[in-house]
Amino acid sequence: MNAVKQSKSKKIYITTAIDYVNDVIHIGHAYQKVVADVLSRHYRRKLGEDRVYFLTGTDEHGQKVEEAARKSGQSVKAFVDAIALADQKEQDALNVSYDRFMRTTDPDHIALVNEFWQRSFDQGDLYLGDFDGLYCMGCEEFKTKSELVDGRCPLHPLQELEVIREKNYFFRWSKYRDFLRKWIVGHPESVLPETRRNEVLAFVDKIEDITVSRKKESVGWGIPVPGDSSQVIYVWFDALINYLTAGLQNGFWDDDTRIIHILGKDNLRWHALLWPAMLQSAGYRLPDTVYAHGFLTLNGRKVSKSLGNIIRPSELVKDFGCDPIRYYLLRYTGLSEDSDISVAKIADAYNADLANGLGNFAARTLALGEQLGKIPAEKVSAEVENKINQTRETLDTKAESFNLHDAVGAIWELIEFGDGYVNTKKPWAITGREEKLRVVFDLVAILDNVASMLIPFLPETSAKITKSIIWEGNSISMKKTEVLFPRRS
Ligand SMILES: [Zn+2]
Repeated sequence: MNAVKQSKSKKIYITTAIDYVNDVIHIGHAYQKVVADVLSRHYRRKLGEDRVYFLTGTDEHGQKVEEAARKSGQSVKAFVDAIALADQKEQDALNVSYDRFMRTTDPDHIALVNEFWQRSFDQGDLYLGDFDGLYCMGCEEFKTKSELVDGRCPLHPLQELEVIREKNYFFRWSKYRDFLRKWIVGHPESVLPETRRNEVLAFVDKIEDITVSRKKESVGWGIPVPGDSSQVIYVWFDALINYLTAGLQNGFWDDDTRIIHILGKDNLRWHALLWPAMLQSAGYRLPDTVYAHGFLTLNGRKVSKSLGNIIRPSELVKDFGCDPIRYYLLRYTGLSEDSDISVAKIADAYNADLANGLGNFAARTLALGEQLGKIPAEKVSAEVENKINQTRETLDTKAESFNLHDAVGAIWELIEFGDGYVNTKKPWAITGREEKLRVVFDLVAILDNVASMLIPFLPETSAKITKSIIWEGNSISMKKTEVLFPRRS
């Protein structure tokens, strides 16, 4: 299904969720960015650099940001600037190749939110109504029902919440129940994985109109409602539009583009049900796929500030290097489910799969090749060619169905095949030079293909291997390089 659709699309637009700036992102957030990065790099290679646009960024408005800034003693602007920059550095540490780092405080985004609001308003989909807000005096902020534990603020369980009635704008979400059901049923790839799609379909009938503004006195830090400066646009009606801002601006929100939103399962409902309704209301095309992934746990526990077990991507990269962390996140998690990581597990995978597996195969092949000088680049044996082609096919199919775990797994099967090939053919024991050259060329072909297949997953490692294989006309020579992955004790 996905493959059919993709072949018709000339361009691909991939987005991640934008992260809330009350704190710097941790490894759980970065996981999603790496996944989106791999898909972007995969499609860039397949369709061409300019056919793919990859967006990530920060969600910077709202009460909690204001509150966090106040606690830090900074102005809100200075506070969000610092977190946005820190988030960007965390993504850069993992070599995430976003085309734009969107900030919802960017002027072009604010302009489009205004235009979008007006379009939806003109459709009769925004109206003033009574909002019963639950206000915690302890936190000095409104709480949503989902934030409460036994009907009370989890931080102030002894205090009664105050019910505060405000006049706010509502979005006529309920009007789109039938439209949404038809869209999801009619487009099997609209919400993935399938279990999430069923979850979303089960919620369609429960959709009620939703508040999309707050009084300025309650939430000061936000985009004013066009034509009513006593109100500020609230959360999703600002944040979700970021995808459209960058998409329209760069020519990636048209019918030639396959639009893929990648997000955590906690954001599923907003992306799969609210966002399409908003787009339909304002008269823009809908995304093709909303993919909701599972969460990462660390040593079996949720990664959270209150548990004190936050790990930043940059800390892990400092310890292991960028590619080993990317490798672990891609190979040892299942995107559709929750997965557990630990520093010990990363270290084990590093030694077993990178120092031994890939590193060892590359070193053996390069050492054999270097001894031989110039190797004529003739046809690879049928056995090797078949294995390479089969691996490429698996890799494409798996990557394009969001199964990055099996996509990376396929490359490691090819590496194992290469190891097996050295062990069976024993090139060091072959006496005839021609036969020896032929076997070593087979090995070089395997290594060269492994390097090219690694581009989306381990870009730095791929480049290092490629640099050590030197093509000159119809022959190649090899140059041993640094040890790719020094063993860790
Ligand atoms: Zn509270």
